[in-house]
Amino acid sequence: MKRLTITKALFKTVANLLFPVGEACIHCARVENRKNDPNLGPYTKCLKLCQRCATHMKPIRAPICHQCGRQMDRNSHSICFDCRRIPNRYVEASRSAFQYEGVTKDLLTVYKFRGRESLARPLALVIEQVIHEHYRNVRFDGLLYVPIHPSRQYERGFNQAELIALEVSKRTKLPLFHALEKTSHTIKQSKLGRNERLHSLQDAIRLKESIATHLENKTLLLIDDIYTTGATGEVCAKSIRDVTGAKVYMATIAR
Ligand SMILES: [Zn+2]
Ligand SMILES: [Zn+2]
Repeated sequence: MKRLTITKALFKTVANLLFPVGEACIHCARVENRKNDPNLGPYTKCLKLCQRCATHMKPIRAPICHQCGRQMDRNSHSICFDCRRIPNRYVEASRSAFQYEGVTKDLLTVYKFRGRESLARPLALVIEQVIHEHYRNVRFDGLLYVPIHPSRQYERGFNQAELIALEVSKRTKLPLFHALEKTSHTIKQSKLGRNERLHSLQDAIRLKESIATHLENKTLLLIDDIYTTGATGEVCAKSIRDVTGAKVYMATIAR
């Protein structure tokens, strides 16, 4: 009897070595039996990360700017300095899940520039969580994504925002509108200030005429991977609202 138990235990150990229990971390590939850590927060829980990588994610926590979703200090205004300075807003509100640093930055870089398309699915879960946390009372009629130039898409093989939006659409059953197109190249956005970005983008992003009639007076969610200065969202929302009267909200993975 005892011998059988030992054999069983030995078999279990060997089996565990050959077929480890638990799942591989989507960032470092370490296989770990994930515990349900209550400190992780809703966004981090969407991603299959090991304990160590999970603690290097920085979810955006309240209080946040009601307009752009930036994390704010306690006792500050409900609207951040940037949003107070530029009052003419086309995006109704923007919300992001994580600060763009650490493991979040690595994951988005690997996804976008090293073509790890399989990350689109877990990232879509994060966007769904953003909707759940912040837009519970908004009834969306459909989804949009920030376009990239066709030649960039050719280089990269895919549009990172489109792929995430597609996964969100599959899960939520909200229709995805391929409504926007990037018609010319713009200077690398991160090198420009907010106003410069607006001008450089204004002529570069266009609403497709064939889709415009489908968007009239709708409430839409614009999806992107990273929120930088908000200029991209503004230009997309402006081109849509001016023509269709649709309301545009925004959700990104990080900012
Ligand atoms: Zn890891
Ligand atoms: Zn703000």
